[in-house]
Amino acid sequence: MVPVKALEDKILKEGEVFPGNILKVGSFLNQQIDTAFMNLMGEEGRRLFEDAGITKVLTVEASGIAFAFAVASKLGVPMVFAKKHGASNVSGDVYKASVYSFTHKKTFDIVVSRDFLSAGDVVLICDDFLANGNALNGLIHITEDAGAKVAGALIAVEKGFQGGGDLLRAEGVRLESLAIIDSMEDGNIVFRESSD
Ligand code: 5GP
Repeated sequence: MVPVKALEDKILKEGEVFPGNILKVGSFLNQQIDTAFMNLMGEEGRRLFEDAGITKVLTVEASGIAFAFAVASKLGVPMVFAKKHGASNVSGDVYKASVYSFTHKKTFDIVVSRDFLSAGDVVLICDDFLANGNALNGLIHITEDAGAKVAGALIAVEKGFQGGGDLLRAEGVRLESLAIIDSMEDGNIVFRESSD
């Protein structure tokens, strides 16, 4: 089964819609990780971005890490994650961005040590979910601050009705989402028809 269809089926079977437009997929993506399935998603990410000359995959802790690791491992490059909650346990100079968290309803600084991103890097930004685009914008800011190139962004589940994805595409970011949800009113999840 193609990974996109398999992901949609898994979301329908195992996902739960919570108030505030939050989709919980703790059984395979956010708390328990379905490792075999994650590898399949990583492979799909490799297929989409293998020609982009990626040197690093960048995400933000905690829930982006598993997907970003799977993609980076298939591409054969390191994965770097931005840390939240201030820079207290990140030594030395950092790249920093302020990000409003959709799930926690507050603003965090996210930081990446300058040791792990540099001007020669070609970066693929990965995350588990895309809603309004704040997390992605923070990671794009950090990448650009490092003088590195943003090759694109890869998302496991985009909530298309929240508009962050459309804004980023309009800005010219190459954004690929494995599944795009167009609506989830009354717990009824509807996916966007794929264009290919
Ligand atoms: P954005 O910054 O695009 O508004 O939201 C994306 C971030 O918030 C992701 O890093 C993700 O962890 C979290 N997030 C947003 N919406 C959801 C959701 O429906 N379910 C889960 N589990 N996380 C979400």
